[in-house]
Amino acid sequence: ATTPVKRALLSVSDKDGIADFAKALAGLGVELVSTGGTAKLLRDEGLDVKDVSDLTGFPEMMDGRVKTLHPGVHGGLLALRDKDDHVASMEEHGIAAIDLLVVNLYPFEKTVAAGADYDTCIENIDIGGPAMIRAAAKNHAHVGVVTDTEDYAAVLAELDQHGGLSLELKKKLAANAYARTAAYDAAISTWFAKAIGDETPRRVTVSGTLRQSLRYGENPHQQAAFYVASETVEGVSTARQVQGKELSYNNINDTDAAFELVSEFDGGEPAVAIIKHANPCGVATGASIEDAYRLALRCDPVSAFGGIVALNRPLTEEAAIEITKIFTEVVIAPGADEAAMKIFAAKKNLRLLLTEGLADAGRGGEMLKTIAGGLLRQSRDAGRIAADDLEIVTKRQPNEQELADLLFAFRVAKHVKSNAIVYAKDGATVGIGAGQMSRLDSSRIAARKSQDAAEACGADKPLAVGSVVASDAFFPFPDGLLAAAEAGATAVIQPGGSIKDKDVISAADDAGLAMVFTGMRHFRH
Ligand code: 5GP
Repeated sequence: ATTPVKRALLSVSDKDGIADFAKALAGLGVELVSTGGTAKLLRDEGLDVKDVSDLTGFPEMMDGRVKTLHPGVHGGLLALRDKDDHVASMEEHGIAAIDLLVVNLYPFEKTVAAGADYDTCIENIDIGGPAMIRAAAKNHAHVGVVTDTEDYAAVLAELDQHGGLSLELKKKLAANAYARTAAYDAAISTWFAKAIGDETPRRVTVSGTLRQSLRYGENPHQQAAFYVASETVEGVSTARQVQGKELSYNNINDTDAAFELVSEFDGGEPAVAIIKHANPCGVATGASIEDAYRLALRCDPVSAFGGIVALNRPLTEEAAIEITKIFTEVVIAPGADEAAMKIFAAKKNLRLLLTEGLADAGRGGEMLKTIAGGLLRQSRDAGRIAADDLEIVTKRQPNEQELADLLFAFRVAKHVKSNAIVYAKDGATVGIGAGQMSRLDSSRIAARKSQDAAEACGADKPLAVGSVVASDAFFPFPDGLLAAAEAGATAVIQPGGSIKDKDVISAADDAGLAMVFTGMRHFRH
């Protein structure tokens, strides 16, 4: 089932590598047919190229909206070469068989990512390209269809070695071709729903391109791979790994959590987050990035072992020295200086990921979660609480330091799995309780962690003494709040909104606490 390639139609927007590919095809005796821009480029390279209009008998028209939409093209792509009546039709209508189709589409995704206006986006919806791709892919028994520049080499290799394309390669190309047109239409439909303000379109589509096959998933018996959305501009997917072992599924998931958290501190003081199992075990701001690291580590040095460290500033030599004192799986930062890189280079397994900058914590976008037989879709939790949003509900007002720590703690709590309780003091977490089914348990765990931390650093009292406490959702009863007061917290930040708010407020007053309501909840599951 190896089919020779006598004629190829090339019509590409991304012209990367097309000249060399076309030259190689011509060298193998393949006749080239092209659309306007592609034909011009190839002729400029000295190649002999036929125009598509020679096949269709029509000029390209309507700003290129209609170029290849014609039986002269589609007949040549779809005809079954081993079926007499198909062959007869080709002869009767003077249709030339096309054995290889090379198409990449108008850059719709890039156009949207560049923030183009409505009309420009519409004009960048390719019509003839997907039609040809789908036709060629359907007829993969006879036609090879190339939609990615990275497949040029494989096609040339087969043509060179076997004088044709194997059925195996043609099937692979066809499967990828349909994935490409599906992803293309996914991008269009997603953009369109947004453009018309439809928040619950009847259908949702997701797409991504393979970045990396992973050795396994969350567990060794699970298969896994890492896909990135087209035109990703920020976040962990834009990170470049500069050293260390191959990233695992859990590494990527945790690094995402770490980087999203530290990106909350864009524009602020140096900040560091240490993550384990997608939860922070220490987050701190500091006078310098190494300072922030030391403070983040102090919160829970036991859990930080084998953790993921994210920085909101470039990695410095001093920070690199501190970080390499314990075993760390991954470090992610918006850059690193040379001296830091040198220190890391001595730790061959340590994965270092560098980004161009931080992610925009306030950006829109959507979150998808698969459930059995479906998906849940929601907008990203881009909510951020500032001092102006707070309602002071107790007799005592928080003082300035408490207020700063309350905002810090609540921002961290947003990134802790519910139920989340976060103790913080002087811009650093001192106890984190995550993922418990009861808020009281999270409170107790966070308090105990602050005791452990005190013991580890030789402090004479639990670090939570004189701290503030944040809760990701309201305290349904006074008990969780009282546990925090008992642990030594002096101020509380929580969304409020419980039917028991009055009881909780009077318990806070009785305990001499200052308490603020945010009016915003940050559940995270
Ligand atoms: P060129 O740069 O060669 O003039 O145009 C190449 C682009 O045109 C490719 O991205 C291809 O998918 C697209 N294209 C080919 N035929 C048609 C057509 O009939 N209509 C539209 N809208 N685009 C086409």
